[in-house]
Amino acid sequence: MGKLDGKIALITGGAGGIGVATAQLFHKEGASIVVVDRDEDENEFVADQIRREGGKAIAVHADVSSVDDVKRMINQALDAFRRIDVLFNNAGVGSAPVPIHGTDNDDWDRVINVCLKGVFLGMKYVIPQMMEQHGGTIINMASIAGLIGSQGLAPYAAAKAGVIELTKTAAVEYSKYNIRCNALAPGWVHTPMVEEYIGGDKDREQQMLRGIPMRRFGDVSEVAHAALFLASDDTKFIQGHTLVLDGGITIL
Ligand code: NAD
Repeated sequence: MGKLDGKIALITGGAGGIGVATAQLFHKEGASIVVVDRDEDENEFVADQIRREGGKAIAVHADVSSVDDVKRMINQALDAFRRIDVLFNNAGVGSAPVPIHGTDNDDWDRVINVCLKGVFLGMKYVIPQMMEQHGGTIINMASIAGLIGSQGLAPYAAAKAGVIELTKTAAVEYSKYNIRCNALAPGWVHTPMVEEYIGGDKDREQQMLRGIPMRRFGDVSEVAHAALFLASDDTKFIQGHTLVLDGGITIL
C-alpha cells in the first residue's frame, strides 16, 4: 500500500530537479499527478513517463506568477481528477549572486514574483477547493536562505523568508478546515538551479561544500522523501512547520 494511495497531487516546477523526483515518488506511492511547469516539453515528458508506468498524470503548462495561469492550472487539474489533495508549491528561480546595492530591480521582481507571489497564488486559488472537499495538504518550498543571512541572494532570501511566514499564516487560518500547510527548507541540493549558480566555478563549489558539515550537496530524492513525509498522513499533526534538510548548515 502506498502512502498517497488515491490522492491527487499538484506539483509546480514539476519539470525541474526536485519537482521531477517528487512527481515520480508521489506516483510510486499511489498518487495521481498534475505536473505544472512553464517548461512545456519537459513537463509533458514527466507526465508521459508516469503514464507509461501505469500511473495517472497530466501536464499543465503554466507560469505560477500569473493569476490567469494559476486559475487555469487548477481548472485543468479539477477537470481531470475532480479534487486536489496535495499542493506542492515548488516552482522557483534563483537570483544573480550580487549584493543588495548591485541587485537589478527587474531581477528582484522576477524572483519575488515566482518564489513568493507564485506560492501565494497557488494557495489562494487551491484553498477554496480544499475547503469544499474538507481537507488537503499544502507543502511550500522555502529554503535555508529564508532562515539565515544569505550573502548575495537578497531577492531569493526575502522571497523564501516570506514563504515561511505565509506557511504559518495559512496553517493558522485553515486548520479548522482540516487543511495542513508546512514548508521545506533545503540547503544546497544538486539540481540544474545549483549547477547554474556554481557556473562551472570549482572554487565556488568547494567553498559551498566547506560550509556544509556533511561535506556534500543534498540529492533530489532526499527532498522528495521529505515532501512525501509532509504530504502523507504520517505527519497529520504537523502544522505550520518548516522542515530543514541541509546537511547541517544551519546548526553552525
Ligand atoms: P530547477 O531549476 O531544477 O527546477 C525549478 C523548476 O521550476 C523548473 O522546471 C522551472 O521551469 C520551473 N519554474 C520556474 N519558474 C516557473 C514559473 N514561473 N512557473 C512555473 N514553473 C516555473 O530547481 P530546483 O532546485 O529543483 O528547485 C525547486 C525548488 O526548490 C525551488 O523553489 C528552489 O528555490 C527550491 N530550493 C532549491 C534548492 C537547491 O539547492 N536546488 C535549495 C533550496 C530550495
